Amino acid sequence: MQKERVIIIGSGPAGLSAAIYTGRALLRPVVITGTQLGGQISLTSEVENYPGLYNPEATPTGPEMVELMHRQAEHFGARFVYDDVTEVDFRHGPPFTVRTHSQTYSADAVIVTAGASPKHLEVPGEEEYVGRGVSYCGTCDGFFFRGKDVAVVGGGDSALEESIFLTKFADKVTIIHRRDELRAGPTLQKRAFANEKIDFVWDTVIDEIQGNGVVQGVKLRNVRTDEAGEMPIDGVFIFIGHYPNSKFLVGELAMDEHGYVITDEFMRTSVAGVYAAGEIQDPHYRQIATSVGQGVAAAMQLERWLAAQE
Ligand code: NAP
Repeated sequence: MQKERVIIIGSGPAGLSAAIYTGRALLRPVVITGTQLGGQISLTSEVENYPGLYNPEATPTGPEMVELMHRQAEHFGARFVYDDVTEVDFRHGPPFTVRTHSQTYSADAVIVTAGASPKHLEVPGEEEYVGRGVSYCGTCDGFFFRGKDVAVVGGGDSALEESIFLTKFADKVTIIHRRDELRAGPTLQKRAFANEKIDFVWDTVIDEIQGNGVVQGVKLRNVRTDEAGEMPIDGVFIFIGHYPNSKFLVGELAMDEHGYVITDEFMRTSVAGVYAAGEIQDPHYRQIATSVGQGVAAAMQLERWLAAQE
């Protein structure tokens, strides 16, 4: 058992911000990164809405922001463990137990920032063609679709932002949306409607993804008329929202019916000494800036709580 003062589970903007603040409070936090250092923003192309970092000549990328925050956290004494948390015991603490594939830790306090993952359509062909035409990340896979036609599913900010990004590579991007109105904000809508490479198919869902080794087309259905159709396509990018990565916390922390960890305004979970920040507890905002704020708040509350225990 490795004894630590503070463990931060996850290394997205919330986790890295909590690491910077607990590091500066001389708590020597250990960050257990999860599969991807930086979480979802490490897969983001350009970040143009983070306050203070806008630069029209060189918009910062997600990986650049991760690198800066990671370096800042290490500078203040945070240590990084590149592993996944498999199990926790919060109910019998403090100290709390956190297990990874290779180590068991005990910690006086914990901040959970394990984030969220993209939702799947759950239609035939989807799982079969992941990595062979089905993708949940334009930044990762857009390059493979140079000169091709792709479909994007969803009508939110992610779907539009990624569609605009995909027009750098694809000849044509067809957004398939289940309603006749977009959920995305007005700025992205304006940019998407003005983009000549982007088309829309309204009131429509994908019933099946078809192919022969790689994606070749989709079966479509109009939800108003029930009319079925087919569309030949080289790739399907799915952006229909996220679910929280909270399976390993079931029975340990109170959650809502969708699996989001419940916190109060001080980022406290149902267990004293365990805090949560970022998308694992926030289905509403899901911004880098809000995750950073929540991570900072959790770190400050943790520091006060630890001081009060002494
Ligand atoms: P979202 O806002 O929840 O949008 C999901 C979209 O997918 C909706 O249009 C929804 O349709 C559709 N959808 C959901 N389930 C579906 C299904 N089973 N089949 C077909 N379509 C389905 O998710 P998001 O776009 O990932 O954005 C999440 C949050 O992050 C939002 O708060 C957003 O503002 C934020 N975000 C911001 C930016 C930015 O500021 N640049 C970028 C990305 C994300 P309905 O509309 O019919 O519900």
